[in-house]
Amino acid sequence: MLQILVVEDDAMVRNLITATLGAHHYKYLTATGGENAILEITSHNPDIILLDLGLPDMDGVDLIRRVRTWSNTPIIVISARSEDPDKIEALDAGADDYLTKPFSVDELLARIRVTQRRLSAGGNEAFRSNVFENGDLKIDFAASCVWMQGKELHLTPIEYKLLCLLARNAGKVLTYRYLTEEIWGFGWESNLASLRVFMANLRKKLEHSGEDGAYIQTHVGIGYRMLVRH
Ligand code: CA
Repeated sequence: MLQILVVEDDAMVRNLITATLGAHHYKYLTATGGENAILEITSHNPDIILLDLGLPDMDGVDLIRRVRTWSNTPIIVISARSEDPDKIEALDAGADDYLTKPFSVDELLARIRVTQRRLSAGGNEAFRSNVFENGDLKIDFAASCVWMQGKELHLTPIEYKLLCLLARNAGKVLTYRYLTEEIWGFGWESNLASLRVFMANLRKKLEHSGEDGAYIQTHVGIGYRMLVRH
C-alpha cells in the first residue's frame, strides 16, 4: 500500500489532506517542519512526499535539494504562494509536480494518481532501458526512432531530443529553464520562443498520428509534462 508523507505546518491544511488520504485508503505520515520531515523520510522511506514550501524551520526548496542528494521519491509541492517563481524553483530543485493553495480535494487526488501511475510505470528504472513505451507512443533510444500507433514519426533532431527529455521524465513537470538548458545550454530566456515553436511542432506531429488525445501537457508559465498513459 502506498505511503504518503504530508509535510505541512498549517494544522487545518494538514488535517484536510490527511482526512482526504484516509478516506481514500492511503496510508500517511505527517511532519510539521523540515527537520522532522527529513527524519520521517530517512526512517520510513515514503512513496510520495506532499511538501508545503513555506515551512517554519526550513525553506521547502532547500529541503527538496537536500532530499534529492539521496532520494528520488516523488515530491508534490504545495504552495500558498501563487507566484510561479517559487514553483519553478521547486521543480528545478527536483520536485515532480505542484499544487497551489487553495486546492480542491479532487485536485489533490488527481496529482497523487498521476504520481502513482508514474511509479507503477516503473519510475526511472523503465525509462533507462532502450525502448520506451507509453500508450501508443514508442521510442527506440538506441535506433533514435519514434512510432505512434505503429507508424514511424519523422522528427527533427531538436524535436526528438525534446521528446526524449519528456519521455525519460514522463509524469514529471519539466520547466522551460530545464528544457532549454538541456537543449541549447545556458541563456534559457533567449531560447524560450524557440522552445515554444519546437514544442508546438512536436505536439502537432504526435497528435496527428495518435487518436488518444494529448501526450504532452502544457503548464502555462512553467513548462511541459508527458502524461503517463494506461
Ligand atoms: Ca506553511
